[in-house]
Amino acid sequence: MKNHCVLVTDLQIRRYVLPSDFSKIPTLILRALWLTHTLKKNQWFSEQELRALQTKKLRALLRHAYSRVPFYHQRFRSIGLYPDDIKGVEDLGRLPIITKDDVERAGTQIVADNIDLKKSFKTHTSGTMGHPLRVYYDPRYLDHITASSRRYRSVLGRKSWEKTAVVRFSDSDSKGEAGRGIAKRTFHSFRRNYSRNYYISYSANEIAKELSDFQPDVLFGRPIYLRLLAEEFRRTGHKISPRLVLSRGDVLDHSNRKFIETTLGCDVYDSYGGNDAGPIAWECLEKDGYHMEADMAICEFLKGKENANPKEVSDIVVTNLNNYAMPLIRYRSGDKGSYRSEKCACGRTLPILESVEGREKEFLAARNGERLSPKTLQEIAYSNNSLPPMFQIFHERDHISINVYGEDVSDDSISDLKTKFSDVFGEIDVVKHKENAKANMRFFLNKAS
Ligand SMILES: [Zn+2]
Repeated sequence: MKNHCVLVTDLQIRRYVLPSDFSKIPTLILRALWLTHTLKKNQWFSEQELRALQTKKLRALLRHAYSRVPFYHQRFRSIGLYPDDIKGVEDLGRLPIITKDDVERAGTQIVADNIDLKKSFKTHTSGTMGHPLRVYYDPRYLDHITASSRRYRSVLGRKSWEKTAVVRFSDSDSKGEAGRGIAKRTFHSFRRNYSRNYYISYSANEIAKELSDFQPDVLFGRPIYLRLLAEEFRRTGHKISPRLVLSRGDVLDHSNRKFIETTLGCDVYDSYGGNDAGPIAWECLEKDGYHMEADMAICEFLKGKENANPKEVSDIVVTNLNNYAMPLIRYRSGDKGSYRSEKCACGRTLPILESVEGREKEFLAARNGERLSPKTLQEIAYSNNSLPPMFQIFHERDHISINVYGEDVSDDSISDLKTKFSDVFGEIDVVKHKENAKANMRFFLNKAS
């Protein structure tokens, strides 16, 4: 029952049920349990079964998009395409690719006309690479996200009542979340027993002590927040002993992962996805690539318009199969990565995303002309098993400089970083900053355009 109580809070009932209609709760619980059961089963499907499921969901989505979403209706009409022309996933290439700019320009034209926007869940992308993109989810899609998250919990052996701390960024004082009314305050106070948000702004020392008081079993955050926290725990002696650390939202390189794992004494598992395209892939206990949630989204890996080969770094293009409020069909995420054909040793059949290389806009040309991904650049910096200070690559016109942050940074580590990046880019400057890196720092800052 405890599990089910937690499930209820997972269902976003604060937004959709409480305090108006308690009678919906049993239906929501049953539906969530059924969906979770289905998703857990899907991860062991054969390739043919997965393909058949994708085809069925894709065709239903296309029919909906054509009849209910003005943006797609117009697009499909302009190329003389009808939903029934797409017989299966193999025909996906006939549909036009859309970008974040297309979605931004479309405004509410990309929202289904049978969706009540007031009842839909609104979120947005982080906006770290430009404007935040407004995204709408319908309640049924939220149920899928809940089920997906519960499947991932079971993969990692998480129990719903394990105490979870989620580290988020905020540069404002509006960190309260209790809301008004007795029901919402009761819900909030129940939820705080097992799940709390911690807001990191410019320094991890604001929350390290609070986290050590809470002693979470599971710690969740972007890689940079986890790294800053791990440094803070080492510096101050505050200690937490989580069972798991979950990372998401940016490239997690090997050395930072090791640093966080060694400091906190547990494994770090990474996942990939976004508020726009939804949850896409996660690492299982094998930590050997990311299982793509092929029953939630279709991922394509493209070089130009052609399908990329396995292990070839290419554009990740996503079709979200469940969000009918604002369908994203063949959506170029702006990220690059690669897939592989070999299965994971865990036996799950969900296909493997081999690596997430980072955002296309953050790729940088080396002096030999090769375009290097944020992941590759971080691996260069962290080669020889060293852990360099927090740094940022600053690119302005043809010049590259490296900003290094932290009071205790040694001259040796700066010189090591300078040597490594000079080998790649030629002449560079290294600028030392005494203050620590900020939690919202981007690894790469491009002033070239
Ligand atoms: Zn696996």
